[in-house]
Amino acid sequence: MKNIIVTGGAGFIGSHLCEKLLAEGHHVICLDNFFTGSRKNIEHLLDNREFELIRHDIVEPILIEADEIYNLACPASPIHYQYNAIKTIKTNVLGVTNMLGLAKRAKAKILQASTSEVYGDPAVHPQREDYWGNVNPIGIRSCYDEGKRVAETLMMDYHRQHNVDIKIVRIFNTYGPRMAENDGRVVSNFIVQALKGEDITIYGDGSQTRSFCYVDDLVRGMVAMMNTKDFIGPVNIGNDGEYTVKQLAEMIIELTNSKSKIVYKPLPSDDPCKRRPDLTLAKEKLGYSPTVHVRDGLMKTIEYFKTVL
Ligand code: NAD
Ligand code: UDP
Repeated sequence: MKNIIVTGGAGFIGSHLCEKLLAEGHHVICLDNFFTGSRKNIEHLLDNREFELIRHDIVEPILIEADEIYNLACPASPIHYQYNAIKTIKTNVLGVTNMLGLAKRAKAKILQASTSEVYGDPAVHPQREDYWGNVNPIGIRSCYDEGKRVAETLMMDYHRQHNVDIKIVRIFNTYGPRMAENDGRVVSNFIVQALKGEDITIYGDGSQTRSFCYVDDLVRGMVAMMNTKDFIGPVNIGNDGEYTVKQLAEMIIELTNSKSKIVYKPLPSDDPCKRRPDLTLAKEKLGYSPTVHVRDGLMKTIEYFKTVL
């Protein structure tokens, strides 16, 4: 039984991760400032004696003992990470430094939730881990993309300089139950719009592509990465099925039997044209392949949103 900190544990992915780690018999300490996360996401865990919830902002230092740290604290949706861009950068620089300092002092292993956004608007397709990316350093997405790139740099430097045991995973677009209704990302937006019979808002012409990973697959990959020996990453985790945003909209309209119609809105600046993970390294090092087909994952997510709307 390990003592495991999950920062951002009250968020969408973090709540599923806490659940999995508790099911494996570990003691889980969830640190969250509730910016985009909510108590509701982890309410069902609060009675578990092995679960601790601490309201804490990782931009401030904290001293607690742990064997492992999963650092997920950071808003992930463009509308949320752009709401207070400076805070987003602080979370990725000061916050990650604090967590690395904690890992160093407690001699804990630390896994950083990085992102496919480090590849920016990629000139290489699909994206392999050795691609250095194409990121605008001064755009509206930079607080997140560049923030996560610095977070990776900090992880590597703490590893080289202080021998901290690190793991870096680059997460590709992930969806599933417990995404917030107002999250603003494409899957939750389209499902909520379809279920409410509102217009489905495609940004741009809908030809941009993304690869959508169901949260259970992602969490399995993250835990597998934490448990590897002598492999620090970075490693891509996601699902390599690639869809245009228009195809996603049509699929969600079909699966929800919705009468919603598609409307087109301006494409936000620096919105990547395409994205698909090369999962060769994840397969080789973690034995990871996604198992949930996007239609099945979407159905589960639709069922979830039916219960909350
Ligand atoms: P989310 O917004 O649901 O969860 C983020 C959590 O972090 C929330 O509970 C929020 O309250 C908390 N948080 C934010 N800033 C904090 C701070 N300074 N201190 C403490 N807690 C803070 O998003 P998510 O989709 O669950 O993403 C989790 C992590 O995975 C993020 O680091 C994100 O960058 C990364 N990621 C997610 C995706 C995806 O598609 N979901 C893709 C790539 C990377
Ligand atoms: N998108 C869209 N309509 C929406 C929300 C998003 O067309 O209501 C598009 C967005 O412009 C992007 C893609 O869907 O091209 C994925 O957006 P999301 O914010 O989910 O993730 P990211 O851009 O960070 O991959």
